[in-house]
Amino acid sequence: MASINGDVRNPTEVRMSQMVLPCHANHRGQLSTGQLLKWIDTAACLSAERHAGCPCVTASMDDIYFEQTISVGQVVNLKTKVNRAFNSSMEFSCMQIVERSREGEMNGEVLAQKTRVESVELVLPPHANHQGNTFGGQIMAWMENIATIAASRLCHAHPTLKVIEMFHFRGPSQVGDRLILKAIVNNAFKDSMEVGVCVEAFCHDVGVPRRHINSAFMTFVVLDENNHTCILPRIKPETGDGERRYREAIARRKIRLDRKYVISCNQSEVPLSVPWDPCNQVSY
Ligand code: ADP
Repeated sequence: MASINGDVRNPTEVRMSQMVLPCHANHRGQLSTGQLLKWIDTAACLSAERHAGCPCVTASMDDIYFEQTISVGQVVNLKTKVNRAFNSSMEFSCMQIVERSREGEMNGEVLAQKTRVESVELVLPPHANHQGNTFGGQIMAWMENIATIAASRLCHAHPTLKVIEMFHFRGPSQVGDRLILKAIVNNAFKDSMEVGVCVEAFCHDVGVPRRHINSAFMTFVVLDENNHTCILPRIKPETGDGERRYREAIARRKIRLDRKYVISCNQSEVPLSVPWDPCNQVSY
């Protein structure tokens, strides 16, 4: 069993979180069954490959009963794992949880770990350029999607992205790679929050280590019906890395506000925390 962030996890377990968008829905605004099956199949195939250590294909699926509809704006969390392995086939289970946003519940303090999201994406030919490298825009779209899910777990509403910082492509990923995306709310300020996302890539070959290919920090707000920002709950960071990220988010916010001040013409309105003077540049 693998231990990730204190959780003991089955090594074949795969998690996938998807926000249901209009492009996933039918004409009634409900998640199309085909799209749901596609997500289940992708996650199950990745679980099977973790067990087998080689490429796998779907052989059969047991009966599926659809008990409720899922609407645009809701989040689907899938968890798949291998239950039993036979000579040439495997049986897996899939648990599916639907998150509904509960508008209006925005007070108190939220534990950072409740906002943690992990998801997997398989890079397919439509996600890549003619050389087989994943389009940067595709990776950014997946990162924005998972960051939005983390943000919505803090505010129980639909967050709006305001700022993206430090989007660095550290290395490429290719068709056939699996991308693990992880996000958590690093800090919540009065009416904005910072979500950090990191992306690791790996191929199905056993023993090839994961590559850290991207990280970014995104600032979200929640807007009411008059387009005013709402007050957000405070965040209680996890100990260790969580506390460090909490402090670093404050530093990034300070730099962002200072940069905004320097660019704006209203230098009398927003006080700069460290007055800029060319003579103090040596100390930076
Ligand atoms: P750092 O930890 O220095 O911020 P990383 O590149 O490791 O830099 O991570 C970027 C961001 O991705 C983190 O700030 C955090 O918000 C998020 N993150 C990293 N690891 C995890 C994880 N295991 N679970 C959830 N979110 C994570």
